[in-house]
Amino acid sequence: PHPRPGKEPTPRPALGPFAPELLRKRYLRRDVSGDVAETAEEMFSRVARTVARAEGRFGGDASAMAARFRDLMAGGLFLPNSPTLMNAGLSLGQLSACFVLPVEDSMDGIFGALKEMAKIHQSGGGTGFSFSRLRPKGDPVRATGGVASGPVSFMEVFDAATEVIKQGGRRRGANMAVLRADHPDILDFVRAKERAGRLQNFNLSVGITDDQMRRARSGRKLDLINPRTGQVAEKIEAAGLLQEVAASAWRRGDPGVLFLDRINDAHPLPGTIEATNPCGEQPLLPYESCNLGSVNLSRFAGRGEVDWDGLEGTARLAIRFLDDVLEVNRFPLRRIREETLKSRKIGLGVMGFAEMLIELGISYASKEAVGMAEEAMKFIAAAARDESRLLGEERGSFPLLEESSLDWDAMRNATVTTIAPTGSISLIAGTSPGIEPLFGLSYSRDLLGEEMVAMNPLFERMAKDRGLGDGLIRTVAAQGTLDGAEGVPDDLKELFVTAMEVAPAQHVKIQAAFQRFTDNGVSKTVNLPPEATVENVLNIFALAYDLGCKGITVYRYGSRDQLLHLGEGGR
Ligand code: ADP
Repeated sequence: PHPRPGKEPTPRPALGPFAPELLRKRYLRRDVSGDVAETAEEMFSRVARTVARAEGRFGGDASAMAARFRDLMAGGLFLPNSPTLMNAGLSLGQLSACFVLPVEDSMDGIFGALKEMAKIHQSGGGTGFSFSRLRPKGDPVRATGGVASGPVSFMEVFDAATEVIKQGGRRRGANMAVLRADHPDILDFVRAKERAGRLQNFNLSVGITDDQMRRARSGRKLDLINPRTGQVAEKIEAAGLLQEVAASAWRRGDPGVLFLDRINDAHPLPGTIEATNPCGEQPLLPYESCNLGSVNLSRFAGRGEVDWDGLEGTARLAIRFLDDVLEVNRFPLRRIREETLKSRKIGLGVMGFAEMLIELGISYASKEAVGMAEEAMKFIAAAARDESRLLGEERGSFPLLEESSLDWDAMRNATVTTIAPTGSISLIAGTSPGIEPLFGLSYSRDLLGEEMVAMNPLFERMAKDRGLGDGLIRTVAAQGTLDGAEGVPDDLKELFVTAMEVAPAQHVKIQAAFQRFTDNGVSKTVNLPPEATVENVLNIFALAYDLGCKGITVYRYGSRDQLLHLGEGGR
């Protein structure tokens, strides 16, 4: 039933066209005078050797494993999160992308967290916080006899510190701020990013419980509760609050929503999760960290078929790699080391899902795409779990296994799967990010201050195979989509559907399909066209909740400065 546009997988170099520049500017090791001192090949060897050292601790053959890890990365089949590529084998040695820090309602609590954030940002990690424990604006402060300035004003301090630290010049830090929907300052929080440029280094998420969702749907009120006193400060319409969240998200892309009960119901460990990492895909307990890695799905599809054996082998090896990272990681704080090694959470995910679909002749906008999302992630999750079980037998289980809700005799890691955005590593691998559809058939993007333009190689090849003329290909390149292009067969139009042409509900269905087989969360942006309404956003929230997502983020094209632009025109 599907068009079968490609008999062979598109032959492509292991790394993407932007990889050399990106690696040179941010990833490759530099000598004392600041000059680049390694090649991409040497970087992969450095990372592989460092991570495989863990094998030696368990009686394995470190150099044999290093060779396998190197081939995995250099072949563009799997990449770990950026800090692993940047820091492995260097003095810093901090390899994780995701951290969550608690913020207690006291000067020591707040500024202690700020200091911990600074240390993590210096090491290349991103931080998430729940500010829900802070007393609201105007609440009395006993020590000074004054009044508190509230969570949003403290977030500004964290934001300013993030701006100053800049992670050794490689990249600016990133943060997530979560505030519970029943915090008295929730409306200030929801609107906090409406002024352009404010809280630039933060993503915002409103934490919503099942009860609050039900109240919003049945037109009931919600109690706002002062976290210091536990007393009801005010009652507001739950639906009105959700409407405000949707309106702000419509205007600026922030805040997103986190479904807190969903997250905690699925979480296998004791304790309550209140926050996630910056991009929302990794819920963590206070002081936990997580290292992520992603399989490049586009490499496992061709001739209309999936190479399941290859995918299984890669997923298993990737799990081993990520568990080894936990062994050799230099944690930025003692407390983080302790908490992380109790649960040993890791997060294997995917990139290149959209390109995999194209190789299979499946439109991202189709029911089959949702089916493939489930099939692929179910398969990867099963391989990942089984590999973690084997590692548990070989190396010992994570210390909290007995206290967890997992029903296994041996298990090395409390969680094994997470779908990351892969914003940088998908550029290195030269494929579509995470589980997102193609943004455009050609697009320009701002990469480290330079304008880079690219045409999707799958489109270029298939257009030529199908005899589309150079003139037509140039027209498409100029506008970035096949929308309205004359003389393009319908099946190609369906196959090369781009992010804004995919119905918002379909974005959510794909997210939910991956979430069904993912232990942690799923990073996904629901793209909306400029003409979408606030009502549309509310419907997306409701659908995401009903389909079992752990959270949701929308992005309406043009609602804030963006890195990506359709077509070759640039800005
Ligand atoms: P990458 O492609 O660089 O490996 P992702 O785009 O997949 O990273 O993001 C994964 C996680 O890495 C994010 O959720 C966040 O925790 C962290 N992260 C991403 N970008 C930054 C940044 N600029 N500073 C700090 N942490 C970041």
